[in-house]
Amino acid sequence: MMVHQREAISRLPAYKQGAAAGDSGAFKLSSNENPFPPLASVTEAIASALGEIHLYPSMAVTEVTDRIAARFDVPAENVAFGAGSVEVLSQIIHASAGAGDEVIFAWRSFEAYPILVRVAGATPVAVALTADERHDLDGMADAITAQTRLILVCNPNNPTGAFVTADELQAFLARVPENVLVVVDEAYVHFNRDASSAVGIDFFRRYPNVAVLHTFSKAYGLAGLRIGYAIAPTEVAANLRRVALPFGVTAIAQRAALASLDAEAELTVRIDEIVAERTRVLMALRASGWPVTDSQGNFVWLRTGEGTDRVNAMFVHAGILARAFPGEGLRVTIGTAEQNDRFLVAAAAALAPAT
Ligand code: PMP
Repeated sequence: MMVHQREAISRLPAYKQGAAAGDSGAFKLSSNENPFPPLASVTEAIASALGEIHLYPSMAVTEVTDRIAARFDVPAENVAFGAGSVEVLSQIIHASAGAGDEVIFAWRSFEAYPILVRVAGATPVAVALTADERHDLDGMADAITAQTRLILVCNPNNPTGAFVTADELQAFLARVPENVLVVVDEAYVHFNRDASSAVGIDFFRRYPNVAVLHTFSKAYGLAGLRIGYAIAPTEVAANLRRVALPFGVTAIAQRAALASLDAEAELTVRIDEIVAERTRVLMALRASGWPVTDSQGNFVWLRTGEGTDRVNAMFVHAGILARAFPGEGLRVTIGTAEQNDRFLVAAAAALAPAT
């Protein structure tokens, strides 16, 4: 006899990690990771924390919380940390929505959204992106019902790279009841160079129902250490601390985050390089005939549609591991210049008529 499990969980697709390159010599461009190795100052901070691993970390993540609060000029009580922003997002969903409640988000967007919503027992309401792969904020506002508890806005959007403008978000928020929380997921905010984009923290300051989600995984290059945070309305942040598993953020991750905040100048140079590479990659893709839209993330989106599996197989053969969304497209992370060059050769070859 099978042990009892929630049926809704057993039916869920598990979140999948991008394929590992192993020792195949392939370039893994499937997880929007930072292509640069950790800074020496960060690995030194990690090494210095190793002597403390017999002790529990700061449960309140006190030092990093204070640094983030000072940096954004917000009260520390509004900052809540987790083991990656995906964990904080999970906490937000659990604190906001349960059985019978609805959570609205754009689709296609971050794959974890519908999974986390279902795990919480709530109902995902996925609103299709516009034809040009942007959030359909009018459609999302139309989808609001008396059961809506939470709305997720991914800006820039993973995997399409499109962004929401400040004007669009403002018009949208005018249509959202104040008791419905809107989370602006800014995992890729550091790569966003469009001045017209909504900046989540500005909206957090102006609206009582807006939270912002940030991560150290992407621009700061700490994906392997798992640390991210929300800046959220007071009651929401307090609930995140109630929902969080105790001691979820390791001391090593906390030390590395502090060292990364100390090294922002160095990290900014790297981020600028990734953004410059993104521009180069987009231009080269267009030159070879790919109709790619702009991306404000550290990735580009190829609308390969029904040809996704075919193109992906060609990429794999060429040593490029991309993230495939069958029937829709391929998301390819901006890597080092060498990695991007290999990708561009493979992308051009995928368009060339077979000989
Ligand atoms: N939000 C978005 C939009 C993402 O793409 C990701 C990572 N793929 C996350 C959140 C979670 O990142 P992490 O848990 O590493 O902070």
